[in-house]
Amino acid sequence: MSEDYNIATESNLIKAVEDSKHFCVLPWIHMHAWPDDRIMPCCIADSAEPVAEYKAGDAIIDVMNSDEYKEMRKKMLADEPDARCQRCYDLEKVGTWSLRISQNTQQFTTKKPENTRENITMLLDTQEDGGIEEFKMKYMDIRFSNLCNFKCRSCGPGCSNLWGDEKLKLVDETTWINRKGRETLLSVNADGSFMEALKPHLNDVQEVYFAGGEILVHPEHYECLDYWIENDMAKDIRLNYTTNMSKIKYQDKIKGERDLFELWKHFPDIEMWASIDAVGEAGDVIRKGFKWERIKKNMFAIRERAPQIRLGLTPTISLWNIWHYSEMFDWMFENGFTSITNPPRLNMLTAPDWANISILPEKFRLDLMREFRLYYEKFPKPEDSNMNDTFKMIMMTLRNGEENKDKLEEFFKENDVMDKMRGEELAEISPRLLEVRQWIEQN
Ligand code: SF4
Ligand code: SF4
Repeated sequence: MSEDYNIATESNLIKAVEDSKHFCVLPWIHMHAWPDDRIMPCCIADSAEPVAEYKAGDAIIDVMNSDEYKEMRKKMLADEPDARCQRCYDLEKVGTWSLRISQNTQQFTTKKPENTRENITMLLDTQEDGGIEEFKMKYMDIRFSNLCNFKCRSCGPGCSNLWGDEKLKLVDETTWINRKGRETLLSVNADGSFMEALKPHLNDVQEVYFAGGEILVHPEHYECLDYWIENDMAKDIRLNYTTNMSKIKYQDKIKGERDLFELWKHFPDIEMWASIDAVGEAGDVIRKGFKWERIKKNMFAIRERAPQIRLGLTPTISLWNIWHYSEMFDWMFENGFTSITNPPRLNMLTAPDWANISILPEKFRLDLMREFRLYYEKFPKPEDSNMNDTFKMIMMTLRNGEENKDKLEEFFKENDVMDKMRGEELAEISPRLLEVRQWIEQN
């Protein structure tokens, strides 16, 4: 590749995008804001290296023209790698789905010639220093705040203010807990100026990913839906949610009770991922605030009252729920919330590393693998099923794991603190974890 190579000067730009190894359209059509004001190019880019920071009163176009954003665009056009994007490159190396390829394909497709033409012009108009004059936010994923009604064991203060409140009780005044000091409720829209700046950009949105904190208790979520409904845009916008499933009604300070089903009626294309790690009592302990009976009721209500919603499951697999996964899978399968063609979208927990299933002693990992193999046998596997992938991820993590006694000790130490703060007993719902603890004591 020559030094002055630039994708936007290629005569067949679509092919150049297709063939690229590092180009990604997201720095032109997307921004990913966090409650603590960090701006990342997307939700999977390295969050330790933000591309900008939002300051109250900033115009969004100025945020999009930070030095880091400009540099990143220049690299993308030259098809050079950016360290923030390593996760995409790694996924592509093993031949799996990456957000980069998915978004490039979506934005440069012959199926939507008008949109593709607009994107080509957008690339051609990129300034020499990587700046852009206009920002059309076609894909939106803004984490407005960490407001959440749960404090799941696998989460933390960055995503849940309740978690922050709990943490604050444990650390002294001099201990740093987040980028905004000892504030536990974080919001990029704390004074309302972010939402004001964002409003004009809502006109260009084609697809949204809503996640939290818990997005269904965020006032900004309702402001966005109202805007799209009032401006007759709802029918053309694809909504994608990850939610803890605890709320289907919202009390707005000005507008009173908001009925989500009334709002969702305007959106024909909705995908919803229920973040559930275990059913019953185990779910209640792993995800503080959960209340399984209420979650069940809400799931059935969504299926009945908003049949256009494609409902799926997105559990986080960790030491907390690995022994409860089959029980949850059975319930979801029997009740039609998961199927061989709509298997759960798994998150294999990587942080905190002391709760990753790969650190279990070999004996426990082998037992789990045997149990999962037998469990998986009972399901039919037609060719169009991708259920195999779901179990493959768990099996691979167990197979490639390595026992780590120090980290296991840390797991129990952290859980003892949580048990005490919450008045719970993790061991009571998970006797297998008790066996792991005994193993540590004997080894
Ligand atoms: S290449 Fe991947 S990590 Fe980088 S901005 Fe695009 S989607 Fe995000
Ligand atoms: S519901 Fe989501 S954001 Fe809230 S504590 Fe649980 S994992 Fe964190």
